[in-house]
Amino acid sequence: MMRRIAALLLPVVFVLFSAGCAPDDFKDSTHMVTFFAMNTYVTVRPSDVMRDGEAVSPDVMDTLLTECRALVTEIENTLSATLPESDTGRFNRSAEGITDASPLFAELLSRSLTISEATGGAFSPTLQTLTALWNVTGGGYVPTDAQLKEALSHTDPAAVTVTGNAVYKTDAALMVDFGAIGKGYAAERMIEYLRDAGLQAGLVSLGGNVGAFQSPTDLDAFTVGITDPADTSALIGNLALKNGYVSVSGDYERYFEAGGEIYHHIFDPSTGMPADSDLRCAVVIAQDGALADALSTALFVMGEEQALAFYDSGIYDFHAILVTADGRILVTSGIAGAFEQTGGGYELTLHGQ
Ligand code: AMP
Ligand code: MG
Repeated sequence: MMRRIAALLLPVVFVLFSAGCAPDDFKDSTHMVTFFAMNTYVTVRPSDVMRDGEAVSPDVMDTLLTECRALVTEIENTLSATLPESDTGRFNRSAEGITDASPLFAELLSRSLTISEATGGAFSPTLQTLTALWNVTGGGYVPTDAQLKEALSHTDPAAVTVTGNAVYKTDAALMVDFGAIGKGYAAERMIEYLRDAGLQAGLVSLGGNVGAFQSPTDLDAFTVGITDPADTSALIGNLALKNGYVSVSGDYERYFEAGGEIYHHIFDPSTGMPADSDLRCAVVIAQDGALADALSTALFVMGEEQALAFYDSGIYDFHAILVTADGRILVTSGIAGAFEQTGGGYELTLHGQ
């Protein structure tokens, strides 16, 4: 039943993976679970072979899948902005912050603040007043200028400080939202867990975030399909992935229409409006899942020119694929060999050495 649900849903998942070129045991592996969490479908596929070649017993496989699900549940219960008893819920309601945040919340918020600064604010973990106001996931609402101004005045990440398990804010109305980093973080945690369990390979997918590992590394790579923003039932190409994380942010992922206008879910923190980007989507490939997720959002907000300048600055180690609104695909040269264009009629250009 779960497999059928997964198969039916694949066309609307924005990064697809296919088992066609995957490590041998994946081709016939029935060990896959799909469940709904963190507002998306989560798929976990552990290899049924250990690094030393030994088969994974059914009991161990059950435990691995159950633990992965428990990990995502724990992350969601901690980070969700809609669950009142999550750390995020408690922090958002508080006037000055909370002193008993879980290490998970404090660590991810701290990482988020660092990335926010490094991206010049293009990625911001403190946009929940805006996210709640626009309510894109709940059907959408176009705010008045006054509402927008008010919400925007409570989104300054500099109002937040993290000291151990204490997380303070100097603006009582400020609220955090891990929507742009939480799923990549969850991918990272599951992959680390499966790798530590001694498996030969593993693959996880949450919405537009995919994580993979393999050891030994001479197995065939996984294939990650990259959705065509102009036709979400088609792909622009395939990316070969062995170890690492791929995140996609695009204007076609979540949006609503009002008065003939399309309003998507990725905000420009400087205006409070859906980012008026010249990109349709940004794909980031990195060795850090949370970073890949946060940067795909940031690059989308930055737009082509700034995104490439940010890449050139070398501040973070990552690869990127940008799809522009005027029909081009820009691929940073380090990943060019792993990307195979398959459709969409885009003009492909390499960026960098
Ligand atoms: P993603 O799909 O990873 O690009 O994340 C988009 C989600 O993150 C949105 O649904 C919002 O909850 C939140 N968000 C929107 N804009 C930003 C932004 N500029 N920085 C951080 N989070 C954002
Ligand atoms: Mg993101």
